[in-house]
Amino acid sequence: MIRRVLIANRGEIAVRIIYALRELGIESVAIYSEADENSLHVMLADYAIRIGPPTSKQSYLNMKNIIAACEISGADAIHPGYGFLAENAEFAEMCKDHGIIFIGPPVEAIRAMGDKIEAKKIMKNAGVPVVPGTLEPIENPEEGLKIAKEIGFPVIIKAAAGGGGRGMRLVLEEKEFINAFLSASNEALNAFGDGRVYIEKYLEKPRHIEIQILGDKHGNVIHLGERECSIQRRHQKIIEEALSPALSEEKRKWLGEIAVKGAKAIGYYSAGTMEFLMDKDGNIYFIEMNTRIQVEHPVTEMITGIDIVKEMILIAMDEKLRYKQEDIKFKGHAIEARINAEDPERNFIPTAGKIDFVHKPGGPGIRVDSHIYSGYTIPPYYDSLIAKLIAWDENREKAINRLKRALEEFVIRGEGIKTIIPLHLKILENEKFKKGDIHTNFLEEISIL
Ligand code: ADP
Repeated sequence: MIRRVLIANRGEIAVRIIYALRELGIESVAIYSEADENSLHVMLADYAIRIGPPTSKQSYLNMKNIIAACEISGADAIHPGYGFLAENAEFAEMCKDHGIIFIGPPVEAIRAMGDKIEAKKIMKNAGVPVVPGTLEPIENPEEGLKIAKEIGFPVIIKAAAGGGGRGMRLVLEEKEFINAFLSASNEALNAFGDGRVYIEKYLEKPRHIEIQILGDKHGNVIHLGERECSIQRRHQKIIEEALSPALSEEKRKWLGEIAVKGAKAIGYYSAGTMEFLMDKDGNIYFIEMNTRIQVEHPVTEMITGIDIVKEMILIAMDEKLRYKQEDIKFKGHAIEARINAEDPERNFIPTAGKIDFVHKPGGPGIRVDSHIYSGYTIPPYYDSLIAKLIAWDENREKAINRLKRALEEFVIRGEGIKTIIPLHLKILENEKFKKGDIHTNFLEEISIL
């Protein structure tokens, strides 16, 4: 039984988790840094504990303090959200050692999928198609060059410990390889303390399609369909939708089954996402698995009616999945725009400071997941995501139209505060986008940035 949960996160996802807890009749404990004193999650939670100074390292990444806060607060479980400690196997293990329930997958699954080379190997052995490339870390640049030539340029160098696009380099031709290899490896070493890299065939203009998984501790695994996340800036998603306009009914079923097979191969439970790329010929390849709740989970919730965060909590309480695969039905179309506090006119530099006035849109089919309010100050220390605007309607065209209507209504005003709402509006007007003719380099291609 879980009676009280500590949320080891901040921002919109901390608020989202509090909503789920409250509806389940479970108490919430917020933690916050000195910079987040006036944050919404602190106000909404039943209890709040100051965890340390503003920098993430001293606060939301401070494992010892968080475990201590959990013990002091009397919470039985920790929900890690996304980012910060969500995919840190050591932290999940620490929770276990302290008798705290980690609301997430088994430690072994986090560890295995956290090493992207290992993940690809496991998935390949489970019969999941993976992007062509090396399945061992490459030790030296010369050896890498030899392999890259065999794979054929362009190739992409990726960090085994990768995430957030760090340690990733696209290499178009042979002569750029050695430099790219060294800089990728260095960046990975600095970011993750692990400089191991691997090489993949670079797929030209692929679509990013991912499958939402739910599994319980009794061996049941189902999928909740796919999300398409091809609208990206520098390999970071900014618009996500469900379902993908690119999958036939038949392909959807096939991919869902593949993803479930992959998740079962690692004894997965909780919510998780298998990420794939689809090339121009419709071939689909696994790239990585995220062993946590994702930013874009609301689009799946809106077309399935399932509260994924609640399911995670129930699964952590050893409950059996309440749904069978045949119970999962998709209704209409949902699309999410990430509202980042960045200035599109100044190369997307993050903006921080006081928001004097906020007006959030509403009306039928609109959902806003956000922690901002009039008078809130965006601290400069964390991720620039300040809101997610999600629109649902009976089909893609109508959902896009509704998202546009809501974006136009959204007001976020404050000195020096800029958001990427103008960029979203431009994307939604684009004819190719409207047709669903998109890929992960779409924004670069239409020179909208
Ligand atoms: P990270 O975990 O750092 O975000 P991913 O492996 O999830 O990295 O890849 C992020 C994005 O990078 C993908 O959605 C895609 O746009 C691009 N990408 C990754 N691998 C390839 C590849 N082999 N070919 C083309 N693009 C790729």
